[in-house]
Amino acid sequence: MQIPSDLIVILGTGGTIAGTAKTASDGVGYTAAQLSVADLLAAVPALAGRRLEAQQVAQLDSKDMDFLTWQRLAGAVQQQLARPEVGGIVITHGTDTLEETAYFLHRVLAPAKPVVLTAAMRPATALAPDGPQNLFDAVQVAGTPGAAGVVVALAGRVHDAAQVRKTHSYRVDAFESVDGALVARVEEGAVRLLGRWPAGEGLGLARISRPAERWPRVEIVMNHAGAGGTVVQALRAAGVDGLIAAGTGNGTLSVALESALREAQAGGVKVWRSTRCDAGPVMDLPGLLPGAGALSPVKARIEMILTLLGE
Ligand code: ASP
Repeated sequence: MQIPSDLIVILGTGGTIAGTAKTASDGVGYTAAQLSVADLLAAVPALAGRRLEAQQVAQLDSKDMDFLTWQRLAGAVQQQLARPEVGGIVITHGTDTLEETAYFLHRVLAPAKPVVLTAAMRPATALAPDGPQNLFDAVQVAGTPGAAGVVVALAGRVHDAAQVRKTHSYRVDAFESVDGALVARVEEGAVRLLGRWPAGEGLGLARISRPAERWPRVEIVMNHAGAGGTVVQALRAAGVDGLIAAGTGNGTLSVALESALREAQAGGVKVWRSTRCDAGPVMDLPGLLPGAGALSPVKARIEMILTLLGE
């Protein structure tokens, strides 16, 4: 007998979606990560007819996301996806580092079933919280036949993990697919496919099995008017393994910053060039430090950590 694969597993990690404030009118002075994932589900009666399971993997403000939580989360996602009855996963997360977790899971797992991250910009106690709708939408995406890969569902839009960035500090539609098409929209519970579900090959859990406290240390340094080499020198002295330069424009760097980065590279530190621009790739030209393609500085950092973990 064929087992129906219509079970959606909701993994909770905290964030504003699980946040509470003292008053309903307070949309910023709240504490993130207070409600359990079971509480979040109880606030969405429209999900009552779905086959759902909830698991609390972490309970944190995602500004404090860390390697150990990523390791645990990737393990939990993989374990749930391996169950034949599971059709998809929803992860509730804070918005601050959501794009990092999404990219990390995409590169490590590249799952054949949908893994949908969702979040909220307003706490659960707000006058008009956005979390319940986002959670409802994310479950619809996770249950969509043919859906696959790691995506982010928020404010009625579905973004792929590689492109998505938080581009606004306050608005409820705080995320954009900055350099390409949306994957889909969610309208009244219906998922309208606009692009393609993300595909690719995951690096696998073995790549991230090293104890989290021994993961490579990769830092981001930014070019700006008057940028010098002092920060790079200090990071080298602190034993950094890799550096992502968030350059200006096409990853351009001041003479002083570039020279410090080249010295770091000659001393065995891995160095990649990205851009501090809100969108677009850096072009590789002969003689330049290696480029990070279209990855934002924070995603280039994850890519470098995963690369170094494999060396
Ligand atoms: N600081 C919160 C978090 O990332 C912000 C949010 O979720 O909107 O957990």
